[in-house]
Amino acid sequence: MRGKSGPQPGSRFRTYAAPDQEWAEDAACQGMAPAFDGPLPGEKTEATDARVAGALAVCGVCRVRMACREWTMDQPRKERQGVMGGQWWPIVNPYPATKKSAA
Ligand code: SF4
Repeated sequence: MRGKSGPQPGSRFRTYAAPDQEWAEDAACQGMAPAFDGPLPGEKTEATDARVAGALAVCGVCRVRMACREWTMDQPRKERQGVMGGQWWPIVNPYPATKKSAA
């Protein structure tokens, strides 16, 4: 999860912690950063897939999953990255390609 101030490297929850949320104290992902992040620099696809599967399994037994899910869905889509609320969120390209105008 992510707080309004953005990524929280070194957070005791995980990279995208929501430290201002009371339920985060019971998050199953505490201390598991960066297992819940989006693709890491240099990480192969197979490694990302395995890491994400592990993170999703943690979400599956998390007792605050519903609160996390609701909080996640309240975040702007561009801030939902990696595994949040029991779901994988691919990184959104902040610079989408623009269509070339017809000449
Ligand atoms: S549902 Fe997943 S991302 Fe959310 S607090 Fe639980 S373990 Fe962390």
